[in-house]
Amino acid sequence: MTFDLTPEQLGFRDRLRRLAADVVAPGAGQRDQEQRFPTEVITRLAGEGLLGVTVPVACGGLGLDPLSFALAIEEVARQDGSVALILASHNSLACGHLLLAGTPEQQRRWLPELASGRRLGAWALAEAESGSDAAAMKTQAERATGGWRLNGVKMFVTQGTTAGLYIVLARTAAEAKKPHGISAFLLEAGTPGLQPGRPLSKFGCRASDTATLVLRDVVVPEENLLGREGEGFFAAKQLLDHGRIGIAAMAVGLARACLEDAVGYAGKRQQFGQPLGKFQAIQWMLADMGTELEAARLLVHRAAVLQGAGRPCSRESAMAKLFASEAASRAANKALQIHGGYGYLSSLPVERYLRDAKLCEIGEGTSEIQRMVIAKSILNS
Ligand SMILES: Cc1cc2nc3c(=O)[nH]c(=O)nc-3n(C[C@H](O)[C@H](O)[C@H](O)COP(=O)(O)OP(=O)(O)OC[C@H]3O[C@@H](n4cnc5c(N)ncnc54)[C@H](O)[C@@H]3O)c2cc1C
Repeated sequence: MTFDLTPEQLGFRDRLRRLAADVVAPGAGQRDQEQRFPTEVITRLAGEGLLGVTVPVACGGLGLDPLSFALAIEEVARQDGSVALILASHNSLACGHLLLAGTPEQQRRWLPELASGRRLGAWALAEAESGSDAAAMKTQAERATGGWRLNGVKMFVTQGTTAGLYIVLARTAAEAKKPHGISAFLLEAGTPGLQPGRPLSKFGCRASDTATLVLRDVVVPEENLLGREGEGFFAAKQLLDHGRIGIAAMAVGLARACLEDAVGYAGKRQQFGQPLGKFQAIQWMLADMGTELEAARLLVHRAAVLQGAGRPCSRESAMAKLFASEAASRAANKALQIHGGYGYLSSLPVERYLRDAKLCEIGEGTSEIQRMVIAKSILNS
């Protein structure tokens, strides 16, 4: 089922499907087990333009629309949730922030670096004590001669140790009432005082790189301020509206992996003298998985179309992420159940789908936060 895809979007999706099967799928399970960052895969995908999907062609990107981006993330996540998470955060948050708030000079300087994959982008909002309540951050930026001095510790930074460019949110006005007084900064890897921690060991998306980021007297010039001083949190909220569509598309790709693998297994595995797929209990699980997959995809595509039209999509992206991520977890549970004991073994990918899907219920705002966004929008409409 598609949402009025153009011939170009369909062609892009089909190309991505082949590319993901050829380049992303091989070794996905092993990378997950070894918690190994997929450097070689990212290099190949960079060569195909996937590190700058919506970045304008003039800045080295593919110049595509948000729906094409969602299609790409679904195809990649179908094969490997970790690679999808890397692409989603790099494109939506790092490239996205520069596209949303960067000056023409900042865009010219940094977007070609990111879109080519010469540098990976990381986006650091969360801290140990401020996750859902992100505006309660403690990281501070104070004025220094000709620029800013940053101090603090960021938590859960995707591409935390592998990024070449960090976008860091910090408080620039201690006395301002939250969410005012927060600003964004561009920090090059290797800037003195900027110290990533070791990659954190995780339940899922284990081949992606999540780390803490320590900032100790990091001094940057004025031109590294990204967007207007004190308004960084409002930009972050808008970015998350868009970023959530990417995470929701990742959930759709994982739910599809679950359905496709479960259908394949139910057709092959015989018990009581017939394939599992002949049992109505199994058929109903597949029916629920298929229905929820299509509903999730429609929500994702609707949100992406709104984003592409430049229309508000806060409620729609929250709905897409909430439904798609929880549907992916349900699908993964069912797929594992259909695979029985074999689904519980790490030699098959189903248990990885379950672990990767869980991240979609947490990253870029938990399901509870999505419900708050949706309820507020419903109550105010
Ligand atoms: C693998 C991974 C990658 C990530 N990548 C990034 C990244 O690149 N950049 C970045 O900035 N962050 C990143 N994050 C952080 C992520 O966005 C946060 O983990 C998430 O927003 C939740 O914050 P928290 O973990 O501090 O949980 P908390 O905010 O402490 O929440 C704990 C629980 O309480 C619930 N809760 C909190 N407030 C409420 C409320 N008001 N009402 C009801 N329930 C509530 C939550 O829903 C959750 O169930 C990443 C996280 C993970 C796991």
